[in-house]
Amino acid sequence: MSAVCRFAPSTTGPAHLGTLAAALLAWLDARSRGARLVLRLEDLDPDRCRPAFARAIEEDLAWLGLDFDERVEQHTRRAHHEAAMDRLEAVGALYPCSTTREEVRAIGRRAPDGGFAYDNRARGRALPPGGWRASVEPIRARLPDGVFRPVDEGGLDLSQEPAVAMGDPVVRRRDGAFSYQLAVVVDDGAAGVTRVVRGRDIAPSTATQAALQALLGLPAPVYRHHLLLLEERGGKLAKTHGAARGAALASSAPALTGTLACCVGLRDRPDPCTPAELLREFDWSRVTTADRVVSLRDGSLKLTTSGR
Ligand code: GLU
Repeated sequence: MSAVCRFAPSTTGPAHLGTLAAALLAWLDARSRGARLVLRLEDLDPDRCRPAFARAIEEDLAWLGLDFDERVEQHTRRAHHEAAMDRLEAVGALYPCSTTREEVRAIGRRAPDGGFAYDNRARGRALPPGGWRASVEPIRARLPDGVFRPVDEGGLDLSQEPAVAMGDPVVRRRDGAFSYQLAVVVDDGAAGVTRVVRGRDIAPSTATQAALQALLGLPAPVYRHHLLLLEERGGKLAKTHGAARGAALASSAPALTGTLACCVGLRDRPDPCTPAELLREFDWSRVTTADRVVSLRDGSLKLTTSGR
């Protein structure tokens, strides 16, 4: 089976250095193995996603010289998300749950992703007559019990009992939007994705996604979770840091590519280069594993290894 990879940015803001570093790594991984590469614009959250951000991200990717074999706007996949809901309903895995975020926080049990675990308290509830479509409440999927062990090629331990560690995930929100956890699994499956390259912040969700894949009869891809670029206060670089392309370092696409290569450890110095040049020498063993703190001062880049 030929390899299929994807890059799946959320369209919640313009691309920042972290988005473009993730895109570069996904592109290098795919192109270095002759894989098909899908760009999926994850635009399901009506509160946070904007078409203008999707356009800006795509323009930045093209400007950098990162190309894709297929492009998917996730909101166009609604029929497939609905079909997956039907399938989950058919196996009795869906239930309505109005427990609020605040109530989940009040349970007080920390989840591996830094949030709070849901305690599956509404598991005994049934969908209304008419099924999930007739529900005005959020809907969760009852995950199978037991430990899931998705494979991370970089050696990260992704084992987790997601039904306990995270709790059953919301698959359809109160506003009717399908959740990231459902859509990512359905869309990776439909695109035949065999390799997922993405930031380490999402690693704790992988077991939940493996459990949903099992419920939906979808094959599990191999994962490679890579370093994150952090801001000086230790948080993940935020989209609020503004567009990477507008940053002082981005005088040209090769200048920004060189900066990104330096951020992820592929180059020692941020000299201008092209993605094609990086491709010739690409090897995951050269990518830094520890997160990097990125500071931009007076137009110059300072990188330190995170102590996290
Ligand atoms: N849309 C997610 C993000 O931009 C990535 C999801 C994934 O790669 O699974 O952080």
